[in-house]
Amino acid sequence: MTPQRMAIMKYLDGNTSHPSASDIYEALQEQFPTMSLATVYNTMETLKQQGSVVELSIDAGKKRFDPNPKPHHHLICVRCRKIVDIFVDFPLELSPERTGGFEIIGNHVDFYGICGICREKQVKTTQTKQ
Ligand code: ZN
Ligand code: MN
Repeated sequence: MTPQRMAIMKYLDGNTSHPSASDIYEALQEQFPTMSLATVYNTMETLKQQGSVVELSIDAGKKRFDPNPKPHHHLICVRCRKIVDIFVDFPLELSPERTGGFEIIGNHVDFYGICGICREKQVKTTQTKQ
């Protein structure tokens, strides 16, 4: 394993920010000035194939990665694109007539909204306008 791959894995360990490849690249720039964005992309692709990270498609702006492969759901802020983990089992039932022979192996619920920090900013902006 290359030191760069080790650094990426260390950065991802316990990281709940759901970073994109460019977020990871920027975070490790100082420590690894020679590391290219392509290296980060390739490493993330490998880690994804190994099942160590999950690729998230809920942010339309960029591909985000989740280093927690345990099944869970997400809250996403439509303003700042923050993604927060939700560990709740939702009793989502699909009748066999609807699934038509599919064996269901999981689900993923995305909640969209405006996070506490963005809501606070919103309040302040409204107050200054008055
Ligand atoms: Zn926000
Ligand atoms: Mn997550």
